Amino acid sequence: MEYGKLVELYQKLEATTKKLEMTDILAEFLKGVEPEVLPEVILLTMGRIFPEWEQKEVGVAANLMVQAIKKATGVSEDDIIKWWKETGDLGDAASSAIKSRRQAVLFKKPLTVEMLVSNLRKAAELEGPGTIEKKVSLVAELLASSKPEEARYIVRTILGELRVGVGEGIVRDAISKAFGVDANLVERAYYLTCDYGIVAKLVKEEGEEGLKKVKIELGRPIKVMLAQKAKDIKDGFEKVGRPCAIEFKYDGMRVQVHKKGDEVIVFTRRLENVTKQFPEIVHGVKECVKAKECVIEGEAVGYNPKTGEPLPFQMISRRIKRKYEIEEMAKQIPTETFFFDIVYLEGKETMSLPFEERRKLLSKIVTPKEKLIGLAKQVITSDEKEAEEFYQEALKAKQEGVMLKNLKAKYQPGTRVGYMLKLKPIMETLDLVIVGAEWGEGKRAKWLSSFLLACRDPESGKLLTVGKMATGLTEAQFEEMTQRLKPLITSEKGRKVEVKPKVVVEVGYQEIQKSPKYESGFALRFPRLIRFRDDKSVEEADTLERVRKLYESEARRV
Ligand code: AMP
Repeated sequence: MEYGKLVELYQKLEATTKKLEMTDILAEFLKGVEPEVLPEVILLTMGRIFPEWEQKEVGVAANLMVQAIKKATGVSEDDIIKWWKETGDLGDAASSAIKSRRQAVLFKKPLTVEMLVSNLRKAAELEGPGTIEKKVSLVAELLASSKPEEARYIVRTILGELRVGVGEGIVRDAISKAFGVDANLVERAYYLTCDYGIVAKLVKEEGEEGLKKVKIELGRPIKVMLAQKAKDIKDGFEKVGRPCAIEFKYDGMRVQVHKKGDEVIVFTRRLENVTKQFPEIVHGVKECVKAKECVIEGEAVGYNPKTGEPLPFQMISRRIKRKYEIEEMAKQIPTETFFFDIVYLEGKETMSLPFEERRKLLSKIVTPKEKLIGLAKQVITSDEKEAEEFYQEALKAKQEGVMLKNLKAKYQPGTRVGYMLKLKPIMETLDLVIVGAEWGEGKRAKWLSSFLLACRDPESGKLLTVGKMATGLTEAQFEEMTQRLKPLITSEKGRKVEVKPKVVVEVGYQEIQKSPKYESGFALRFPRLIRFRDDKSVEEADTLERVRKLYESEARRV
């Protein structure tokens, strides 16, 4: 298929922000796509080259992209960077470079989707000496045979910045509409395969029957069931019913473990394959799980090998991306995995069984071994007092809180259906001052989209940075923030700006960490905007002392 056709689709999609219209446009387009390229086309409409669960990356970031554009067009690096700065979009710069290219066009043939995907997959597989040059060449080859408009989208796709607005919901509805199949079945198939490309091809070739046949495949992760929040124990009981199962909510990393004979594969909740990084989970499952084939879920909690005390999540998160000295890290920050669910056993899916049955199956196949493999600590009760005591016990054991689970509910992958609820102490918020910001990229280029937060240090009279906030804002709030901050800009360097400290915001966050990255010595993990505090002046913003106190009280808990 000609890539130009896909570019026309992108342009049509960009011309509207209405979800329904986008769904119709995409559905119409999908009808005409040959089944062989359908998987790739679906991924490309979402701005991906690989399905989410395949941890592959093209590995060409902005600086290499500049080299590739230069190689493809003969345009100087200075010009490319100048154009890039003008719009904040390297895709636009590539487009301009193609327009003014000084080199003969290498290929006269139109660029195809197949060629694009083939080159980018090749680039992702490269290893060893000369990798960088080869990657640049593969991308340059694509750019050299592309038209200006095509180059724009190729660059955005490779940099992971396509942003035409096609998310999972639109793809699901478009597939359903294009081929006349039930959207729920499409979604179910996606949750079990984590790849809308495969799902679309199956629908096109086999219709609804094909979708119904989709099963869990060992070695390919499924989307996990997610939790909703409970306000307190009483609210929890009201939502999941009495009696219910109450379990420790462990503060660690969710793992989905696939066992296929002697092979054990470990995925995170974000579908990353971390088998290599967590050898102790692999050993543990081999030793303690008596099943030929199963898919089980649990929480891997790091602990201090000297004291046995649990460690906060941030410690094991350091192991997730680790490539070297894996065994050493496994010794320094070992994990104990507490299993809490089972979705597949000996060739059969167990997702439709009630939770209490699943837990029984799990207990049958898991033989706990201390400091390696366990079952999530659980009570089954209707009694609020007993539940409250169990909650306090979990907090005393330095875990995050508790989960409340409906005993009769099935396992519903990928969704927050309210079959399980989480209950944890409320995190206090901070009122902080915005002292800097960064202009966004792509669709956000017109807004300041990342905000530097600071707390007060009354002793020195200075504002000290404690983190960067880029989430929790609606489009209207980005607009408002930009309007408020623009007149306050005091200096501008590249995309970064400094602003007069005037705007106070209330900020929520997941955790406070010690960090040399910011002047305060602390960093907020995932800060998000809760509201503007127009009622507060900068002098009333929270102090370094309060940040420290919150950090300490959190550290005591974990
Ligand atoms: P949250 O990440 O705050 O949405 O809370 C849900 C997460 O709690 C799950 O994704 C698991 O990683 C984790 N978790 C810890 N203990 C349990 C448990 N006993 N049952 C289910 N999830 C648990």
